[in-house]
Amino acid sequence: MKCPKCGKTFDTDVTDNFCGFCGAKLKDLCNCWIKKEPYNCGSSECPGYKLFLDEKRSRLK
Ligand SMILES: [Zn+2]
Repeated sequence: MKCPKCGKTFDTDVTDNFCGFCGAKLKDLCNCWIKKEPYNCGSSECPGYKLFLDEKRSRLK
């Protein structure tokens, strides 16, 4: 597997969602820490806290 952003290669299957070198998102479908389930946010990098806030807002409605 190769990081699409920084070009570093990984020897074995990467279980992490992100490149350990540059932090780029490696999978379309993340094991999302906010959604607590596999989720494709559509971003090339994790929206992280922003997604968390969006989630919180949508739950208040
Ligand atoms: Zn990388």
